[in-house]
Amino acid sequence: MYDIGIIGGGTAGMTAAIYGQRAGKQTIIFEGSVFGGQITSSPNVENYPGIASVSGTEFSMNLLDQAMKLGTETVTEQVTGIRDEDGIKIIETTEKEYPCRSIIIATGVTHRHLGVPNEERLTGAGVSYCATCDGAFFRGRDVAVVGGGSTALQDAEFLSNYCRKVYLIHRRDEFRGEEQIVSRLREKENVEFILSATVREIIGDTAVERLILNSKKTGKEFKLEVSGVFIAVGQIPQNEIFADVVKLDGNGFILAAEDCVTSHPGIFAAGDCRTKEVRQLTTAAADGAVAALAACKYIAGEI
Ligand code: NAP
Repeated sequence: MYDIGIIGGGTAGMTAAIYGQRAGKQTIIFEGSVFGGQITSSPNVENYPGIASVSGTEFSMNLLDQAMKLGTETVTEQVTGIRDEDGIKIIETTEKEYPCRSIIIATGVTHRHLGVPNEERLTGAGVSYCATCDGAFFRGRDVAVVGGGSTALQDAEFLSNYCRKVYLIHRRDEFRGEEQIVSRLREKENVEFILSATVREIIGDTAVERLILNSKKTGKEFKLEVSGVFIAVGQIPQNEIFADVVKLDGNGFILAAEDCVTSHPGIFAAGDCRTKEVRQLTTAAADGAVAALAACKYIAGEI
């Protein structure tokens, strides 16, 4: 029997393992594909306090190494479900079942992709899903942001501080995100809205060179020369398999506040997979610590 079963090997999950092990608990982390999570796709992390610059891969491998040296077990198996049998939490994978005293769900989110030609191939070479992570690499250059929600608006505002020109491409005439940010963006000389337009293709040999757009108003295609495209068309949580056990919000995020406590006793949610405002590396790490310490209290019968 494990003390804390952690589902998801990203920053939140691995931080939870470190805190759990250091609190004397036997932890086990389940990861369905590659340990590291979203940050591994960031070429350079420059916004983690205390570390001026590190590649996403190196950052996450350091975390994994730290957790494993402390004694956490790692399992590369796809989790298919969880259940509670008289207080014992069972983690079901494609291979077997693992009984645990508590569970931390740290499955993160995946960024919704546009699904246009060359998007996958040029990810990390001009295509990014995180302006905060990668924006500084485009200092003085022309970039595009795709999306009309708060993330896209905030990304455009953030990038306008670095970039020569920021095109904000949205498929409708009205933004879904906050009007206040829209107003601020209208005032910016280096921000241009391209509305009722969709991206048809991303063009580039080894890096992004231009976009082919389709205007919904004219029905015509046109080109946009940019060296970066930041795609912010929503995030997709991956929590369906837990929906019978913990409550989700309307968008599929696990309902849990800053204490990481879910609707089910002994099951905690950490990082981007839970309802929260700021989804960053720092907040994922913070959640990992909070959830692990909460799990320790649960095991001790204190909550
Ligand atoms: P979102 O609100 O779901 O917006 C996604 C945007 O992408 C929408 O404008 C949507 O267009 C567009 N879109 C979706 N699929 C598309 C496609 N295939 N092609 C082109 N455009 C597409 O996502 P989000 O901006 O990431 O925000 C997620 C949640 O976090 C929201 O609840 C948001 O309020 C919240 N958030 C809050 C803050 C904050 O500071 N409080 C900051 C960021 C995010 P349509 O509008 O036409 O559907």
